[in-house]
Parts: sequence; structure tokens; C-alpha cells
Amino acid sequence: MSRASYSVAMTEAVAKVARNHLLRADGQEDVCFALWRPSQGRSRLTALIHRLLLPEEGERRVHGNASFEPTFFERAMTEAAAEGAGLALMHSHPLGRGWQGMSRDDVRAEQGHAGASFGATRRPLVGLTLASDGAWSGRFWMRTAPRTYARQNCATVRVVGERLSVTYMDELSPPPLANAEQMRTVSAWGEQAQRDLARLRVGQIGAGSVGGLVGDGLARTGFEDVMLMDFDFIETHNLDRLTYATRRDIGQLKVDVQAAHLETRATADPFRVEKIVAAIYDEEGFRAALDCDVLFACVDRPWGRYILNLIAYAHLIPVIDGGISVRSNRHGKLAAADWKAHTATIGRPCLQCLGQYDPGLVQTEREGRLDDPTYIAGLPKGHPLKTRENVFAFSMSCASMQMLQMLALTLAPLGQPNPGAQSYHFVGNITEEPAYGDCHPECQFPALAGLGDDCGIEATGTRNTAVAAAMTDGGPAEAEY
Ligand SMILES: [Zn+2]
Ligand SMILES: [Zn+2]
Repeated sequence: MSRASYSVAMTEAVAKVARNHLLRADGQEDVCFALWRPSQGRSRLTALIHRLLLPEEGERRVHGNASFEPTFFERAMTEAAAEGAGLALMHSHPLGRGWQGMSRDDVRAEQGHAGASFGATRRPLVGLTLASDGAWSGRFWMRTAPRTYARQNCATVRVVGERLSVTYMDELSPPPLANAEQMRTVSAWGEQAQRDLARLRVGQIGAGSVGGLVGDGLARTGFEDVMLMDFDFIETHNLDRLTYATRRDIGQLKVDVQAAHLETRATADPFRVEKIVAAIYDEEGFRAALDCDVLFACVDRPWGRYILNLIAYAHLIPVIDGGISVRSNRHGKLAAADWKAHTATIGRPCLQCLGQYDPGLVQTEREGRLDDPTYIAGLPKGHPLKTRENVFAFSMSCASMQMLQMLALTLAPLGQPNPGAQSYHFVGNITEEPAYGDCHPECQFPALAGLGDDCGIEATGTRNTAVAAAMTDGGPAEAEY
């Protein structure tokens, strides 16, 4: 079960350059530095590696092992300090496979430079080892007393892009034991894939109809560590769509009821479900999301989607998003029911470029005006914020597509992690060609990749309560689909 307190994440592009440098054709070790930015979750600190500093002529020696000259370290510290970034030291184990332990020389090299590095950057030195199979291992050198730096191993190192690849430290994140309940699941993709999959920490943002089904999918598939976020209560008109709720649950918090439901359906043992009674735009909800390895966006408000989009790029946590839209004609008959699923991650188009939220409405929501019935009433007929129609079967299909997006991202069957953006139209039974591509050239999100807490955007906050107080019940308040 993954309860990472420390983690490292980097993009596939950064990992590729590092691999090309550190895994030498002549089979010797090599070394380099990198700059990192913090992503501070509620219980996990992640170092986001955002730029490599490769050695220049004469800055390191390769002699079977590799060592760096003081001039290289000085240059690296100067660049880190100038950018306000942390410093990371990377080296390779050309004969190693999987998570790597540390030799006495490794410890000496990292611990011996932790003090100077902290002094220059005010951030802990991060050490990383790359094995021959591409597996990363990492640790933070935390200052515990004056001139004393102690090693804190990461539980995971995540490489994020077209695909999500995670190396786990087994001591901190033990591989799950597949059990008889999961026999058919595991035989579909094999034990190794199941071990890598089930240890991911997955966050489900929104416990509506799609969220409810996604949660069931995670629990049955054997995920061990699930975080549920929602601040809403179950109402009568939710009962046609919440797979976890019954009449007895009316008035209860959605996350309380869903968590209890998942406990009885999880095939992992142990299974941990954490409940966050907050919105993603609350500081608490935002930080809880940063503890996750992958997030399901089951919310349909602009502010929530905007924040999840920011997390996908700035914090390198892939976001599996979807959406359902139902329209009836003027005779009250079903005219269109469309749903979609896609993954916002480095190298794929973001939620804003996919048109999943209107950036202009993010500010409107922050001002509390989306909870103002007069504002909603003034929107044109058929506006996505106005239409609340949904049907359980539509949610089932959408939740299934979102689960498949996540499985492709992590399992990459036959090397294919990207199913593209999927879109389905119920009326006419039209499955659109999957859409591939990238963000618009002017989009700001790809440029924020790996900047984490240093990205310079204050995304969280509180809704303007003066307007929100005017909110009426049974109106447009539901924030998830
Ligand atoms: Zn080593
Ligand atoms: Zn974009």
C-alpha cells in the first residue's frame, strides 16, 4: 500500500535526456545534476525535476564509477539558487535493475554535499539513481539538526507523459499480494502489471454518478489506496444515479456513504479509502489531490476543472476527465446525449484546449455567481451549466471510458498508452474517431510543466459567500456528474 511521504516526478522528456546521458554505451557509470521544484501535498512532498544540468568538459570523471569536480557542483548550486529551485544529484547503476540501494560511496557523495546544497538553495538535496532498465530510485536529504542531514527514501519515482511509469520502493510501498478474488483480473494483464497498478494512489474528485462507478471500478480491480473528495450530501433526486446510495442514506455525506460502500467491495486487503470533505478549490482539497499519482475528474464546474488542469501539468499528476451532456427538444423528448473521456497529461491536450471548461467562467465561479439562481436563469437555453439531466446508463458508459483511459495510461498494452480523446453520441450511435494532438501554441499549461508550487498561479480560494448565500436548494448547486 503506497503511503508515500516523499516522491520524485519528472516528464518523459526529462527522463529521456537523463537516460541518454547516464546510461552510457561503454557501460560505465555517469553523473549529472538537475533542478527541482516542490509539489507539497497534505502528506507527501514531491520533487518535480524540471531541468537537467549535464556536465561540461572537465566537470566530471568517469572511471568505471563516476565522480564530479567541485566546479560542477558550484555551477549547479549557482544555477539552482539563481532560479530559486532545489538541487538534485543523479547517477547511474549500469548493472542494476529495479529500485536501487545505495553504496557507501553513494551515501558519502550525497550526504557530503547536502549541507552546501541546502545552504545555497534552502531546499533539501535530492538524490536519484537510474538503473539499466530505466527504473529510478530517489531520496531526500532532510536537515534534522545543524549540519545533520538524514536520508528519507522516496516511496515512488514517477515518470509522466504519454504513459505513467512508476518505480516503487518495496519497503515503503510493498507489492500487493494478489488473492483469489482478483484471479481473473490478474490473469488479464499479469502479476507484475497488477503490482504496479494496484499500488497507485488514485484520487476520485467528485462522488456523483460517474465518480460512484469509477470508485467501484477501482475497488473491484484491486487498488489499495483510494482518496474520495466531495463536500455534498445525498438528496432524493440523486438516487437514480448513485450506485452506492440507498434511501436510508439521504442526508448523509456522499463520501461517507461511498467510502463505506467501497470497503465492502474492495478486493485488495488491506484497502484504504481516505475521505476529504472539501472542494478541489479549497486549499485542503487541493493539497490532498497532490498526494495522488493519478486523479479522476468527476466534477463539471469550471473552477474545479481549471484547478485539475493546473495539477495535471504543473504538478505532473495525470487527470482522467470526462463529461456528459444531455439535451431534450422543445417537445421534451431526448434529442442528444453525448459523453467523452480523455486524459490531461504532459504531451496531450489540456482540458482548456479540449474545451472542457470556459476560462472566463472560472472567475465567475470564484465570485460565487454560478450559485446565484438569477445568473443561471440568465444563461442561454442548453448552456452546460444549466442542463442537469442525466441517466444512469450514460454515466455507466462515461465511467467505463474514463476507467479505460486510466488503464491504458498505466498498463500501456502493446506499448499503446494513449487511446486519444474519446467522444460518443448516443443518438445515432456515433463513436467519433479518437482525437490526438497537443495544446494550442498559445496555451499556458504546457509551459508550466513540473513547476509545481512555484508555478506562480494562486488557484485555490473561497467562493464569494455573499452571493453563494443566496443559493437555493434543488437548483444548479451539484458540482459533480
Ligand atoms: Zn551508486
Ligand atoms: Zn492547453
